[in-house]
Amino acid sequence: MTTSGNLFILSAPSGAGKSSLISALLKQPNKRKLQVSVSHTTRAPRPGEVDGEHYHFVSVNKFKQNIQKKHFYEWAEVFGNYYGTSEVAIDEQLAQGIDVFLDIDWQGAQQVRMKKPDVTTVFICPPSKAELEKRLRGRGQDSEEIIKERMAQAQSECSHYQEFDYIIINDNFDQALCDLTTIVENQRLKRSKQIENNQDLFKDLLAND
Ligand code: 5GP
Repeated sequence: MTTSGNLFILSAPSGAGKSSLISALLKQPNKRKLQVSVSHTTRAPRPGEVDGEHYHFVSVNKFKQNIQKKHFYEWAEVFGNYYGTSEVAIDEQLAQGIDVFLDIDWQGAQQVRMKKPDVTTVFICPPSKAELEKRLRGRGQDSEEIIKERMAQAQSECSHYQEFDYIIINDNFDQALCDLTTIVENQRLKRSKQIENNQDLFKDLLAND
């Protein structure tokens, strides 16, 4: 029997807690496999980031070649750097029955939605603007100027919230994780997916002995 995975997009402004939610989700015991797609980017690695694990770090030239070769499912320029999702990798994982998460911005979400209308899109919101600013300042990494820039970028990202199927308000982390898990389970239980993944069962149930 062939099974196919579900494709999910998770978008959020920086500071909304998207990365923590994804890593907590991956640690949960799941009946079916779940993976996060590793994007290509032209931005420099941050301390602790590993090539091939957090991103495939590539040059601008290499990235542009990949665009020409139609290597990407979607790509976008975000904060002055290029980011893109490899088409082959995603299709292979879905074909193996793996649920795939894309951690991409609203521009990428728009492109994927056009190619794959059955994608499930989730937007993670901070509980308030003040809390978002507090979280960004709490990281203690950025100058005042960068904080202002990130707040403006957050507003721009949030202006697309209406384009998403689901919205999670990340006020309480455990609740937000529970919400995300529910969305994943919900997609797995949809009639169309259950029929696609259990064709032998339905044939058997309806067969005249
Ligand atoms: P960061 O550089 O902080 O890891 O990511 C910056 C932004 O780029 C985040 O909003 C993230 O979701 C987005 N991003 C990461 N990978 C991709 C990708 O492959 N495509 C698109 N469109 N956005 C991406």
